Amino acid sequence: MTIRIKSRREIDAMRDACQINVEALRAVCAEIRPGITTAELDAVARRVFDKHGAEPAFLGYPPGSRYPYPAVITVSVNEELVHGIPGTRVIVEGDIVSIDCGTVYRGFVGDSAVTVGVGAISEEAKTLLRATEEALYKGIEASVARKRFGDVSHTIQDFVEAHGFNVVLEYGGHGVGRDMHEDPHIPNWGKAGSGRRIRPGMTFALEPMVMSGSPKTRVLDDHWTVVADDGKLCAHFEHTVAVTENGPEILTKWE
Ligand code: MG
Ligand code: MG
Repeated sequence: MTIRIKSRREIDAMRDACQINVEALRAVCAEIRPGITTAELDAVARRVFDKHGAEPAFLGYPPGSRYPYPAVITVSVNEELVHGIPGTRVIVEGDIVSIDCGTVYRGFVGDSAVTVGVGAISEEAKTLLRATEEALYKGIEASVARKRFGDVSHTIQDFVEAHGFNVVLEYGGHGVGRDMHEDPHIPNWGKAGSGRRIRPGMTFALEPMVMSGSPKTRVLDDHWTVVADDGKLCAHFEHTVAVTENGPEILTKWE
């Protein structure tokens, strides 16, 4: 396992990719409302990429696969956890909608995700969204030089479980930089004090994926969409983070 350390200049370049990613996410979120289809949301993100001459990191991923990802963003609704393929699905009032997006710009990748409620959502959904987003920020706070990746994973798991929810076991965060998925894999569960030591110049995506029911998942026939096996609500928040001597910097911050 090789964790690539980035220079100040490389982190600056990543920030540019990350901010285009944020612009795409924002534009998509502004359009989420009852009646819109998930394919229309995908088109919104595509326009932001085109405007900047940026490439969508998800489209065609992974290269050489039998089932390359066919869209720009992933849209995962309600019991869909991650990797929902945009299409004819119509968003309705009360849905919770996760948008994940990746940008390639001048050789670097930005990766972030957000989950939003559509109109009036249930109390349980509100609590789930809040706990998932807050778990992300707890994980980021723990991402300081000289701590270990296990400390980050453990912090996220602990926070989520304290709220009565479950983290997914099979999917997690990851190093990010010139490639969307670099070492290390960063599970949303783990043991404090375990794993590699965090160092300045490391850049990675943290992404709590939280399930209100059982953590058992399955993948739909489309080869991508990951759903909660019990059909209960799921949420997902993600930021790309750079570790500096002064602490973690969120490169995908919504300014
Ligand atoms: Mg992502
Ligand atoms: Mg990611």
